[in-house]
Amino acid sequence: MGFRLGNIDGRAAFVLDGHYFDIAKLSGGHLGPDPMEVLLSPVAVARLSDLLPNASPTGALGDVTLGPPVPRPQKAFGIGLNYKTHAIEAGMDLPAEPLVFAKFPSCLAGPTATVEIRSDFCDYEGELVVVIGEGGKDIAVADAWNHVFGLTVGQDISDRQAQFATKPPQFGLGKSFDTFGPIGPFLVSVDSVPDRDALELTTLVNGEERQRDTTANLIFDIPTLVSYLSHITTLTTGDLIFTGTPEGIGFAQNKLLADGDIITTTIEGVGKIVNPVKRVSDYRD
Ligand code: ZN
Repeated sequence: MGFRLGNIDGRAAFVLDGHYFDIAKLSGGHLGPDPMEVLLSPVAVARLSDLLPNASPTGALGDVTLGPPVPRPQKAFGIGLNYKTHAIEAGMDLPAEPLVFAKFPSCLAGPTATVEIRSDFCDYEGELVVVIGEGGKDIAVADAWNHVFGLTVGQDISDRQAQFATKPPQFGLGKSFDTFGPIGPFLVSVDSVPDRDALELTTLVNGEERQRDTTANLIFDIPTLVSYLSHITTLTTGDLIFTGTPEGIGFAQNKLLADGDIITTTIEGVGKIVNPVKRVSDYRD
């Protein structure tokens, strides 16, 4: 049976029908409470989730604020120009190999967290985020899904001023401001989504649709990314891969983020994150 994991006050919890179930309590202390630690025991987590129909909930989801389902990964990769339509709108050639950058894990935030922008050149990028389960090195493409714990929704928020202040651009820094990586609302097991290779993704800003595409259009699909990265750096449980954004970014249509905007990012079968934007002090004065 598929399951969903949330981060409630730093504790891992199953989520079902508007309620949450603290994993440490449900397992009698065998699992958790740290959301990073439960990722090390995928089989035990799946087995424990079978108890949910008969378990008493710890509380109602409506009463809590969710944190990022994976709060402290060792690594968070971003993939640039991974949809053809987005590469075209950005005026860039299609990459011959995955274009990889790092988002510092310190940029991660919860599914309803406020995104704090520090210039008037900040942008949204709705993305499917892969969460690594069992780590490994030199993972074969055919074996890659076995190393994926689950999926979540993410925003690869980008400060285009910081990103393009230099030549060549500095993707890592421009996409790693604090709060620039909201993820969630839940970590969803792969067997709970309708088609792991084709999930519809939308981004709305203030209710206006800006992005709509399907992950079937990824240039480098999830198995290819997992395998490619693992041949370079050892993948570790909890590592995140922001798989890239489709066309419709603000930069390409002069609709960059402003104070008070609300970004709503939805992926079919995975969930929806809603993030308000707050303009704070400039990062350079
Ligand atoms: Zn991106």
